[in-house]
Amino acid sequence: MKRILFFLSAILMALHVGAVPYNADNLPKPDETYGRVVNPDGILSQAEVDSINSLVLNIERAKNMQFAIIVVNEVVNGDVFDFGVKVFNKWGIGGKANRGLMLVLSVKDRDTRIITGNGLEGELPDAVCNRIFNKVQVPLLKESKWAASMTASIITINEYLDGNPEVVKSLSTDDEDGDGWLYWLLGGGGIVGWAAYSAKKATKCPQCADGKIAKNIEGVVLKEKEGRKRVYMVPWVCNMCGHIVEKEETHFFDENDPDDYDPKHNRSESSGGSGFIGGSGRSSSRSSGSFSSWGGGHTSGGGSGGRF
Ligand SMILES: [Zn+2]
Repeated sequence: MKRILFFLSAILMALHVGAVPYNADNLPKPDETYGRVVNPDGILSQAEVDSINSLVLNIERAKNMQFAIIVVNEVVNGDVFDFGVKVFNKWGIGGKANRGLMLVLSVKDRDTRIITGNGLEGELPDAVCNRIFNKVQVPLLKESKWAASMTASIITINEYLDGNPEVVKSLSTDDEDGDGWLYWLLGGGGIVGWAAYSAKKATKCPQCADGKIAKNIEGVVLKEKEGRKRVYMVPWVCNMCGHIVEKEETHFFDENDPDDYDPKHNRSESSGGSGFIGGSGRSSSRSSGSFSSWGGGHTSGGGSGGRF
């Protein structure tokens, strides 16, 4: 009995420790090269963390961005915006390109924020972030769907940055006209549906009805080389009508890698996403250690969010 009481009190103490509100000083920083999700209270499951890491790894590579996804129970003083900005700048989310994006959720405070780095603010304006908050996050958070809110936000941001006309239209106005794509995403399209959608979007011939376009590796041209970054122009050719679509691919090579184009080196393409693996169940990023380190990024407080 004494032993049971000991374990019970140990569990209660552990729960109590876990429930401490966070600020920029006591929030534990993970080894960011293994993942972007900071989940100290265990609000997300390991499977949800792995799924989000897999999703953002592909987007980071394709768009030269850095994410930080923070999910806590409570922040000191309940000021989630102030908390997020301080953590963002302390950890330097965004890297040298200063293209950082932070999503913060404080469950007990019922408050969530999208915080953009100074180098991303122009591409992802505050008004757009505000519509992502209202149209994507609030409906899911009101149902306590924490991971789904993060995932749907990340997918929507990626599609917006890609210039998906349906998403751009939806996020250009507060009214609900043209929100069909978002309803689809929130209503069950989800991450697996989006992966299928991405693959279809990337391979359907824009010229003829039945054809599919595929990469013609022999026509690849190196367009730009800067540090680890290589930008290639890759022709995609239709199997029915021969129509050619040129797509840009950005790859980040290790210093020791050759410059030769390797279609398997990057699993995602900046303009298509045919290689997206978010829902395909490939190995999680937990053990891959393939994220870049945070550092160098700064925010002046761009973005949006609020209480839900
Ligand atoms: Zn065609």
